[in-house]
Amino acid sequence: MSYEIEKFDPEIFDAIESELTRQNNHLEMIASENFTQPAVMEAMGSVFTNKYAEGYPNKRYYGGCEYADKVEQLAIDRLCELFDCKFANVQPHSGSQANGAVYAALLKPYDKILGMDLSHGGHLTHGSKPSFSGKNYQSFTYGVELDGRINYDKVMEIAKIVQPKIIVCGASAYAREIDFKKFREIADEVGAILFADVAHIAGLVVANEHMSPFPYADVVTTTTHKTLAGPRGGAIMTNDEDIAKKINSAIFPGLQGGPLVHVIAAKAVGFKHNLSPEWKEYAKQVKANAAKLAEVLVSRGYDVVSGGTDNHLVLVSFLNKEFSGKDADAALGNAGITVNKNTVPGETRSPFVTSGIRIGSPALTSRGMGVAEFEKIANWISDILDDINNTELQAKIKDEVKELASNFIIYDKPIY
Ligand SMILES: *Cc1c(COP(=O)(O)O)cnc(C)c1O
Repeated sequence: MSYEIEKFDPEIFDAIESELTRQNNHLEMIASENFTQPAVMEAMGSVFTNKYAEGYPNKRYYGGCEYADKVEQLAIDRLCELFDCKFANVQPHSGSQANGAVYAALLKPYDKILGMDLSHGGHLTHGSKPSFSGKNYQSFTYGVELDGRINYDKVMEIAKIVQPKIIVCGASAYAREIDFKKFREIADEVGAILFADVAHIAGLVVANEHMSPFPYADVVTTTTHKTLAGPRGGAIMTNDEDIAKKINSAIFPGLQGGPLVHVIAAKAVGFKHNLSPEWKEYAKQVKANAAKLAEVLVSRGYDVVSGGTDNHLVLVSFLNKEFSGKDADAALGNAGITVNKNTVPGETRSPFVTSGIRIGSPALTSRGMGVAEFEKIANWISDILDDINNTELQAKIKDEVKELASNFIIYDKPIY
């Protein structure tokens, strides 16, 4: 197989090939990452990249949109079917863009946002100061208890004091089920809009492996590339027609220009995968694999935040250790196991160092790994952490990692 890009731009082609090798040889355990289907990548590489389609299906500002209309409508219909909701916007270029559109649609500058603290597992776009969400709005936070869980009574107390216009629920580093019904009660008590950001857990939600944000949330956003395993992008959903209209205007012409029709086509292909019977099996396996990871780490004496997991990720705390999350991240990286450092409840170190790591199961589950492989990997992780300065051990495990990875090759070429 030869590619145009190989002849035209060998520097970039080289980097693409090297990235394929990296993805094949390493164990990708960053909780927000996944491997998408070749069919999704084919749609992303399609001729739709050439098309301007400002507006929405059957309401475009450009001619020649009949096929763009078709793919966008299919993406919308499939996403509504997946979430059992009435309205969807599939144009957000990313999860952050989707969240920006929700605020732009429903808030005025300086309105109050109540979201989960970034250092407790929330996302930058939930009101964090360096993000537009913390700059353009007055943001307040709730967090987790030292046991790693949200205390809903406390969130209620904070909400009563803050009187937010919008409450954001959903997280990037929270291992327990989010109770959207309880958040609805809190929102109702203070007259707030409830906004659920399911970016991390969407793939579980659509398989009924996590409580759905519907019918509780007024508006829901997601990314399409995390547990959903689709192309990189975002989406917004609601059952409220008035909110849907405001969201559509906030995305275009509010925040974005032309939609990425090739990515929308890829989102539709991804959603078809999510609607298939095997998706349910995948989501169950993602949870079983994360549960095995937590079980082994606990049995090896590691402090798993909240004692385990209900979803696709495990947060490990090193508050009682000499080494930091940064040290652990680097040591595991030396062995070809990719995780990320993460703050933990009761954090004492800086966000650049941290006292924890976040480990996820979605990507390796997409490669076909099951609990037997996760048990092996969890023991490697424990071996490395037990003797964190032992670079010889890291090198030895790196070879074993490569051997395991070679039995679960997901792509046989760099470009589809
Ligand atoms: C990843 C994530 C986002 C942002 O997604 P991007 O596509 O990276 O902009 C938003 N919210 C949550 C909870 C996330 O985990």
